[in-house]
Amino acid sequence: MAEVFKFGGASVKDAEGIRNLAQIIRLNTGKQLLVVISAMGKTTNALEDLTYAYVNQQENMHEIFERIKEYHEAIMLHLFGSANHPVFDDIANSFVEIDWILEEEPHDDYDYIYDQIVSLGELVSTKIVSAYLGSIGIENIWLDARSFIHTDNTYREGQVNWNKTTSAIQSQVPGIIEERVAITQGFIGGTSENFTATLGREGSDYTAAIFASCLGAEAVTIWKDVPGVLNADPKLFSDTVKYEELSYRDALEMTYYGATVIHPKTIKPLQNSKIPLFVKPFLAPEEQGTKITESNIIITEPAIIIKKDQILLTISSKDLAFITEEHLCEIYGIFAKAHVKTNTMQLSAISFSAGFDWDERKFHKLKALLERNYTFRYNEGLTLITVRHYKSEMLRKLSEGKTVLLEQLSRHTAQMVVKTV
Ligand code: ASP
Ligand code: MG
Repeated sequence: MAEVFKFGGASVKDAEGIRNLAQIIRLNTGKQLLVVISAMGKTTNALEDLTYAYVNQQENMHEIFERIKEYHEAIMLHLFGSANHPVFDDIANSFVEIDWILEEEPHDDYDYIYDQIVSLGELVSTKIVSAYLGSIGIENIWLDARSFIHTDNTYREGQVNWNKTTSAIQSQVPGIIEERVAITQGFIGGTSENFTATLGREGSDYTAAIFASCLGAEAVTIWKDVPGVLNADPKLFSDTVKYEELSYRDALEMTYYGATVIHPKTIKPLQNSKIPLFVKPFLAPEEQGTKITESNIIITEPAIIIKKDQILLTISSKDLAFITEEHLCEIYGIFAKAHVKTNTMQLSAISFSAGFDWDERKFHKLKALLERNYTFRYNEGLTLITVRHYKSEMLRKLSEGKTVLLEQLSRHTAQMVVKTV
């Protein structure tokens, strides 16, 4: 039966990481394996910068692009020793596609341009890894994810066409991986007009879940630079605890509120197909990591999720009338139109407050739409603290020295929007 592995940018950020990936694949020889890989290191951020510089015709655009090329070349030199391997030409040709874009003046829609440029990160990383595996005798085939993951043309947030995707994957992939390991890109898909659409930042986990669910895979493993799913971000807390096992439900809630260990869209397709998800440390592949399944397991260690860059917006009607159901319908419609997803909400007699992630363009649109019928004020630079299976004493500790602007408790989840002063 098929298995899907996913390696993120951190695990392929240098030659050493790629050698380690190869080692993990060797350890799993004999499995029918599809391997989903992200762009190397911080390449996606760099390509985002490049897109921005290009659209705004900034002088530094070529410099940004050069740095991206040099970074990949340095990794290839480490892996292959000299520039004789044909992959060097292959990668140079891939980058030429960006040169062609940069030569033209930017006319197209930003999100469309973004996807055509940013997707290069995954394309080159998988080509390099595939060539390296081949060079050390691990037989593999490089697959273009855009021929399998079919999306609509919502650029930067491609919505998967499940029917097309399922039939493309089911008709081809099982036969391929019976013979050898398949290497493919996370994060990218193809539209019906054969353009590239990305699935949203950090979307490679989601790609792994899509392939797995279409294949009816036995398991998905996400290889990470942490021992598994921890109860809090180790960069922010010192005494973190690893979960041995989690329910899909807890994992879903944790990722929804900002736990970055797994992309939030990953869980649902796996849950629907009852495919277990393992999160394992790529530097210690023999360890158990965390197993996420359909279980009733109740975690005893509360999960703390910190999400920065939040806005809290308080909206009132212009005549300060009570906020009615009609107002709420309209306000919520406006949020949907501006593609703003709320993390928290609260209603009082004459106002409605909502907390969400800061995104300049979306916020701008939201404000413009609200202005017609509503007045509002907002605070920026806030932090959302979510605690799943909270204990009240803990909430006090977490909010110490901070101003709490909004607090909500439900049976299992506590949330606070705070200002650090
Ligand atoms: N490379 C993409 C990103 O950094 C996708 C991913 O890593 O999952 O957002
Ligand atoms: Mg990444």
